[in-house]
This record gives sequence, structure tokens and C-alpha cells, in this order.
Amino acid sequence: MKLVTTIAVLRQELGRCRKKGRRIGFVPTMGFLHEGHLSLVRQAHKDNDVVVVSIFVNPIQFGPKEDFKMYPRDLKRDTGLLRGCADFVFVPPARELYPDDFCTFVEVRGLSGEYCGRTRPGHFTGVATVVAKLLNSVAPDTAYFGQKDAQQAAVIRKMVGDLNIPVNIKVMPTVREPDGLAMSSRNTYLSPKERQEAVVLFQALKSAEHAVGTGLCDTQKIRGMLEDFIAHTPSARIDYIELVDRKTFERVKTIDRDALLLLAVYIGKTRLIDNTLLRAGRRQ
Ligand code: AMP
Repeated sequence: MKLVTTIAVLRQELGRCRKKGRRIGFVPTMGFLHEGHLSLVRQAHKDNDVVVVSIFVNPIQFGPKEDFKMYPRDLKRDTGLLRGCADFVFVPPARELYPDDFCTFVEVRGLSGEYCGRTRPGHFTGVATVVAKLLNSVAPDTAYFGQKDAQQAAVIRKMVGDLNIPVNIKVMPTVREPDGLAMSSRNTYLSPKERQEAVVLFQALKSAEHAVGTGLCDTQKIRGMLEDFIAHTPSARIDYIELVDRKTFERVKTIDRDALLLLAVYIGKTRLIDNTLLRAGRRQ
């Protein structure tokens, strides 16, 4: 496994691999790796000959009052976890991706301003910009993303389509803790009490799945039910609950086709997101 810090060296190394006809899989991350990230890396390892993982806490996707400075970082631990399943770990310094005169941004209009984009203005432009730069630098055959960040995956799919970037996008299922909490580097912010209460997101998703399974399909009613459910958890404050078409991400009024239930909930000061697919017409 090689640690690379510049785009020039990365291109050189991967150019050699490509010449030998090797397939390249790429997993972009912000580090502080957990099983969720590693599931993507393992899939990339299965599907490809060469696996590249990037670790970069992307400053431009954080708002001025967000957690860029305190975001957990542990490169030594991360590289230890990647040994054996990644071939290249790309760890660029911020200057490598954003020199002083950097002034080009990728904006996926519409979707970027909705849901998480309302609470985090500019976030998805930061994400799309860095992912475009990374895809340009790595030029992988396939890039891997997690369903946990469903809107992010949708923004990236749209960007890749609109900009004709020649890459397959593969979205992998959410990996969860034994109690159902979606794994996230941000879970480390939770106090022991908050950690226990954070399971409310998963439980809310499950209760919605159950309600839809028993015939409830009015999304306003589902939202009301979830608001009541989450209100019982003292540390929880809802940011948004949205039910959207799984492909277009447009809001839906009834579950007459498969829909995504998107949740963003503050547990104390930590904002957590999760989602599940609600299947239409499947009575339990
Ligand atoms: P991050 O380091 O948070 O930017 O995440 C890097 C990639 O890992 C993104 O594609 C995430 O969607 C994915 N990811 C994060 N958490 C999970 C999880 N619990 N299960 C599956 N994928 C995840």
C-alpha cells in the first residue's frame, strides 16, 4: 500500500496500472474510518484490480459554523485499517486541491438546495467540487459511495451524468451498529447518554417501514407519526423528515411507488442523518 500526497504522483502511478489493463476502484472518504467506509473498500477490492482510497477532510463542504476544525482525524489508524485492502491512499494537503487562486466550483442545481442543502447551504457544491476533482485525478472505472448519504450519492450521480464523467457509480448499503445506529465518524461526538438515544433515528425508520407495511401511505400522516415518535427522546430535535421519490428525489404525497424516507435529527448538538426505502404496496 502506497501513501500518495500529490495529484501528479497519483496520476503517474495509476497511469502505469491502467497501461497494464488493471481496473481501478475508488473510495473517497474524509477518514476516521469505520466499517461503513471499509465495506466500500472491500467491495472496490472485489470488483477491481487496484483500489484507491482518498482521505481528505474537505474544507469547502463545511459551513462557517460547522465542525471542520473538530472533525475527527487519525491517519495512522486509518492507514492501519486500509492495509491489505487498498493499494493507494491519497492524502492530499488542502493546498494540493485548493491553491490560493482556486475559483471553480461544481453546482448541481435544484437537488443541492433541498433537504440537507437547506440546513447546510453550499455543502453539496463543496462535495460535488471535491468529488469532481478527485474523479479527475484518479480516473477510476468505478467509484463507491454509501447509501447512508443518499442525497450526496444522488448529487454525485447527477453531476457525473451531466458532466459526462466516464465512471460507474456504485452505492452500497448502510452499515449499522448492533443497535441499528448508522455508523458515522460523527457518532464520536455523542455523549454516552446521547449515543443511547441516537438509536431513535433507526427506530423511527423501522416504525415507518412497519406503518407502510400495514397500509399507511399518506406521507403527511407518516411524518406526523414520526414527529410524535421522535418527540419522546429528550435529546432529539428534528431538522427534517422528508419522503421523496427514490430516483428523482422529488417529494411524494403518497407511497404509491417506492420512496425514500430521509431523516436529519440533532441529538444534542450532533446532527445525524439516516434513510430507508419504503416499498409501495407491500402489506405485511
Ligand atoms: P465520509 O468519510 O463520511 O465522507 O464518507 C465516505 C463514504 O463512506 C461516503 O460515500 C459515505 O456515504 C460512506 N459511508 C459513511 N458511513 C457509512 C455507513 N454507515 N455505511 C455505508 N457507507 C457509509
